[in-house]
Amino acid sequence: MACNTKSKKAEPKATEGETTQNPTLAKIAELKKAGYDIVDYHAHLKGGLTMEELLEHSKETGIAYGVAFNSGVGFPITDDSTLLANYRKYKDYPVYMAMQAEGREWVNMFSKENIATFDYVFTDAMTWTDRKGRRMRLWMPEEVFVDDKEDFMDQLVAKIVGVMQNEPIDLYVNPTYLPDILQPQYDALWTDGRMQKVIDAAVENHIAIEINARYKIPSATFIKKAKAAGVKFSMGTNNADRNLGTLDYAIEMIETCNLEPNDFFKPSSK
Ligand SMILES: [Zn+2]
Repeated sequence: MACNTKSKKAEPKATEGETTQNPTLAKIAELKKAGYDIVDYHAHLKGGLTMEELLEHSKETGIAYGVAFNSGVGFPITDDSTLLANYRKYKDYPVYMAMQAEGREWVNMFSKENIATFDYVFTDAMTWTDRKGRRMRLWMPEEVFVDDKEDFMDQLVAKIVGVMQNEPIDLYVNPTYLPDILQPQYDALWTDGRMQKVIDAAVENHIAIEINARYKIPSATFIKKAKAAGVKFSMGTNNADRNLGTLDYAIEMIETCNLEPNDFFKPSSK
């Protein structure tokens, strides 16, 4: 099969080979036997990765997949007709189909019936405009403005809570993500009070929270607190390229945080 010749690092790849030595795969098999659904609910067909290659990776790793399609202003899916064309193209594959809602305008761009053709909907709070009117994409260092760390965090938490209150989503992904400049202070900035606000909003609005394998977030402290409050979790990668990986951080958190099969999100359809 096609090998990812461009991969420079010794990371697990979306290709064969990793399967023989990767200890996470034995763990996945064990967890499935114990009744866990091992699903990566946040995969993308990026970097030229095809649905067939994704399914091959699924077979090799034992991980089931939810494939997410970006929908919103400036993305491939912008209205009901592009949404339905995408749905028809992929609906027969044995994967969950996810709508990744982008920007805050999406709520008014698609009909409810068409949104419902997806198995679930998620978004994150990585794109927002601060009080001074500066639009930020938190993963782009040159677009991030932090005048005061504490104030930035308070604004971020308010954005997350607002998304959970106002947008009809099933999952909140890339949770607790901080821009590069703040990441070294993750534990200090994500105070108990801030974590609790996010957790309370998730509980009130019945929204599950992603354990993200790529960014290794949220922290074990957050996950334990959220579990105690009754929050459900999903596992997700949010791959930026054709490397799907094997959910290592999320799998590790199952043990670290004593997550049980019923602590996990399940799409209502299928
Ligand atoms: Zn994504």
